[in-house]
Amino acid sequence: MFKQIFPNVFAFISKDEGSNCFVLKGTKKIALIDSSSFFNKTQLLAGLAKLAISKKDQLLILHTHGHADHIGCDEFFPNAKVAMHKADAQMINEKNEEFACTNFFPGTALPTVSTMLKAGQKINLGGISLEVIQTPGHTQGSVCFLLEKEKALFSGDCIFADGFGRTDLPGGNSKKMVESLKKLQKLPLKALLPGHGPILLGGEQIAEHIKISIELASTNAFL
Ligand SMILES: [Zn+2]
Ligand SMILES: [Zn+2]
Repeated sequence: MFKQIFPNVFAFISKDEGSNCFVLKGTKKIALIDSSSFFNKTQLLAGLAKLAISKKDQLLILHTHGHADHIGCDEFFPNAKVAMHKADAQMINEKNEEFACTNFFPGTALPTVSTMLKAGQKINLGGISLEVIQTPGHTQGSVCFLLEKEKALFSGDCIFADGFGRTDLPGGNSKKMVESLKKLQKLPLKALLPGHGPILLGGEQIAEHIKISIELASTNAFL
């Protein structure tokens, strides 16, 4: 089920295999950040219904990247607009199953991405504004979304509360991961809302965690 974390912002923390999903209810537009894997379909749709969101609504689905555990429920929202950074979107629109890692989630329908996200782009949902932070490393087209007012980062598979994203899948790059983590270090974050696992709150805790992640990722990158 979804839990409110900020005004008009709700979190579905996945207990199954599949990413977390976040809902942002702007006055102009309702956005999902990632749609989780199809394993979470029933729970996700029931949770959205409680927020008065129907699968027929014209939602905006913002993706942190194109892996199957984050895009698996897109197919259940036929009227949604799907957005992703073009480096990952190209792979998804070409139906590149190897890139999407559908072997872990066989049967995942790859969506058609119609909106290409760009680094630094601002997304205004009405009362809620996001900035696209380009963070390649886990995949070439990985992005995070910064919730500007709350200084909260939807971090996808770039960084979690207890680690950072793997770089050994197609399109992964450990040196770029280090650069991306250093980019995040410059943001004055108060909340980390990752693609998997629990939310991490507190500026100091997040800064410390990013610092340790950079050290670990740098060791990996230069082995
Ligand atoms: Zn993931
Ligand atoms: Zn991933």
